[in-house]
Amino acid sequence: MRGVIMHGPGDVRVEDRTDPVIQEPTDAIIRVTAACICGSDLWPYRGAEDPQWPIPMGHEYVGVVEEIGADVSTLKPGDFVVGSFFASDNTCEICRAGYQSRCVHATGLDGTQAEYARIPFADGTLVTVPGQPDERQVRGLLAASDVLGTGWFAAVAAEAGPGKTVAVVGDGAVGLLGVLAARELGAERIIAFSRHADRQALARSFGATHIVEERGDAGVAEVKELTGGLGAHSVVEAVGTQESMMQAIRSTRAGGHVGYVGVSHDVELPGLELFFSGVHLHGGPAPVRRFLPDLVELIMHDRIDPGTVFDLSLPIEQAAEGYRAMDERRATKVLLTF
Ligand SMILES: [Zn+2]
Repeated sequence: MRGVIMHGPGDVRVEDRTDPVIQEPTDAIIRVTAACICGSDLWPYRGAEDPQWPIPMGHEYVGVVEEIGADVSTLKPGDFVVGSFFASDNTCEICRAGYQSRCVHATGLDGTQAEYARIPFADGTLVTVPGQPDERQVRGLLAASDVLGTGWFAAVAAEAGPGKTVAVVGDGAVGLLGVLAARELGAERIIAFSRHADRQALARSFGATHIVEERGDAGVAEVKELTGGLGAHSVVEAVGTQESMMQAIRSTRAGGHVGYVGVSHDVELPGLELFFSGVHLHGGPAPVRRFLPDLVELIMHDRIDPGTVFDLSLPIEQAAEGYRAMDERRATKVLLTF
């Protein structure tokens, strides 16, 4: 099969890979019908991480079940499925509490920017989509696989809801869909930090009521001004840098909540400032699986259209151009077709 391999920073190639096979009786093999490039794929691309090269890329996917292991009971070949970026059994105590990304059996995926993928704990990891999704729904379901599910978790962790002012730090796909989640959760006002016209427009289409172009302490000051000096009730942090995390914490009022989902890179929290802030912090790798059944339903009933976050679609053979486009911020989110 064809699949995307990163050989080093900036070095993305599409190569022949060995077809995945069932290794455990709880596995399923899916034929990937659409995949995408994640903002987190840019960390190794930019040399901000030094993994064991080369690495098969991709952790977002929708597809059709090709083959199931002997112990898989909820799926059958031909089912259209979506799953999250961590495989999880969905039965352990941590999963049942809604933290599937920290499942006691949690394991990553072996690169879903490829024609086929092996999905461990298929019963727990995958959700069957009722009926046959149309092209727009496929895009939405693919977004649900990570960026929507992650934005949704961030908004829930930040306790977005009716009567709340929600601020969103980060105008990548996760932040933008955090805006959508905050709207769906009933937030009264949604402030999106963004200085890019196209992303501001997307944020508004997802429900942002205010745009703040400043960042850092100047951005915090604007949020304070919009909230009577108090700060937002709920803040989504979807970047993962020191500046963005402090911007999120400082934009939150005492007693408010930060939902942080940007993968933390060298973030260090100042203890004394945190102590006096009186702010709740909750985040981490999003338990997307918790939200998937509801998100599938919203998408299949055309209640939400998160797939508009994909602004560039390329055949898998042109994956390297997709990485370049996202790295240079010419694209927000790149969809790969097969
Ligand atoms: Zn589990």
